[in-house]
Amino acid sequence: MALNVIMLGAPGAGKGTQAERFARARRIPKISTGDILREAAQAGTELGKRAKAVMDRGELVSDEIMIGIVKERLDQPDAAAGFVLDGFPRTVAQAQALDSIMQGRSPLVIVDIDVPEVELIRRLGSRLVCSNCASNATTTEEATSLVCAKCGGKLVQRSDDKEATVRERLAVYRAKTMPLVDFYKARSTFRSINGASTPDGVAKELARTIDSVSGNGASR
Ligand code: AMP
Repeated sequence: MALNVIMLGAPGAGKGTQAERFARARRIPKISTGDILREAAQAGTELGKRAKAVMDRGELVSDEIMIGIVKERLDQPDAAAGFVLDGFPRTVAQAQALDSIMQGRSPLVIVDIDVPEVELIRRLGSRLVCSNCASNATTTEEATSLVCAKCGGKLVQRSDDKEATVRERLAVYRAKTMPLVDFYKARSTFRSINGASTPDGVAKELARTIDSVSGNGASR
């Protein structure tokens, strides 16, 4: 049965890092809508240019565009065996569209990563990403040297991690994305986990949770 996972949580909750680790361990694609938009922005496409302006204001790209992007991506053959979606859905309209895209596929496993707001602000203020491969810096050595351990690229602050944009992103999260917890919480495949511990601790908890929901007892 395909493992179809979506990760909910505020900006800075660790969705990207955890989605990447889990997807790599299970050999399924991690699909990050933020990464797709940042790649389009870097490539300088029309969509990318428009998306970058929206992202730098901390707002959301339109549901219509995002639903189109995700539908196309989930139709790729590599997503047939499962996927981890990071950053989508972010609105109730996107969640409803995802339900119709998922008709006839294995049910969604929905994990909400819960982190207190003071911790989110602390993390986002100090987050560094690689300007070349877009990975998050995860070690203090990387952060001190400003060099990506994966590819040697230069580590920089994400343009939307500036303080004013972070405040707007958290406000948008509370208004538009937090209602998704209510949208999903009655489903038997919904779980909330504590994301305030270490990356390794959260990864273990996440794997254990997804395996228990999907009926796979062997937590790896
Ligand atoms: P992320 O990397 O997930 O934090 O996303 C960065 C930015 O990309 C967000 O602040 C939004 O501007 C945009 N974005 C990513 N995913 C979505 C989505 N599902 N709906 C609308 N905007 C999105």
